[in-house]
Order: sequence, then structure tokens, then C-alpha cells
Amino acid sequence: MDDRKALAAPCGLYCGVCGVYIAHRDGNTKFKERLTTVYGVVVDGIRCRGCLSEEVFTYCRVCPIRTCVSGKGIEGCHQCHDFPCRFIEEFPLPVGKKVILRSIPTWRDLGTERWMDEEERRYHCPH
Ligand code: SF4
Ligand code: SF4
Repeated sequence: MDDRKALAAPCGLYCGVCGVYIAHRDGNTKFKERLTTVYGVVVDGIRCRGCLSEEVFTYCRVCPIRTCVSGKGIEGCHQCHDFPCRFIEEFPLPVGKKVILRSIPTWRDLGTERWMDEEERRYHCPH
């Protein structure tokens, strides 16, 4: 699987704009240190290459949405008729849930490549 495909998190929280991913990709220790307080893990625990990679952040590795999508043999929740199911409704972070509810319909409408482009554009800082 190429690097970009590994970023297409099945829940719709595009990994390419995730702080854990960016800090690890860039070897940015200062950023990692700041994230330790957010996630309650040690600096070395701030590591991820994307939800579909071989190196997945400790919390995302056990995510029930990830497990559910994998079990259904689909690409993501955008291909599921039960969306938004209880796993989405019970998502532990309110901001994350809000993003999922926005992102999954967009993914469904645009297809994977354009959806990832759109997510990158949305979070890109022009400065
Ligand atoms: S799988 Fe990794 S990159 Fe994706 S959201 Fe989780 S921590 Fe971030
Ligand atoms: S039931 Fe459908 S919407 Fe819910 S986590 Fe599984 S694939 Fe996603």
C-alpha cells in the first residue's frame, strides 16, 4: 500500500492532517512533546504512519470503527448503509464526531482521491 492510501482512515478522520502523523513524519520532537499532554502517552508513543499503515498510533489501533470497517471488507464508513451507527454516535471526542459526520458524506460524494485532496485543502494553512 502506498503512503497516501494508508492515510485514508475508514472513519473519515483523514490521517494526513493528524498531529500525531505530522509530528512523527517530520521527526518534530517539540510537537511530539506537546501532544504527550493531549494524549497522555510518552514522547516515543507519538508515532503513526496512518490508520492503514503498519505503524498505527496506540489508540487508533484498537478503534472499534477501524475494526468494524475491516470486518465488513469495505474501504470506509462512506460505503456503509448503517452510517452513522452507534460507534459514530459514541465517538469519544465531540470534535472528532463532528468531523466524521461532515467528512463521510463528502468522501461518499467525491470518491477517495478527491476527498483526500479536499481534506488537505481544508486544513492547509496558507501561511
Ligand atoms: S491512525 Fe494515526 S494518523 Fe490516523 S488519526 Fe489515528 S493517530 Fe492520526
Ligand atoms: S457500522 Fe458502518 S458506519 Fe458504523 S463503524 Fe461500521 S462501517 Fe462504519
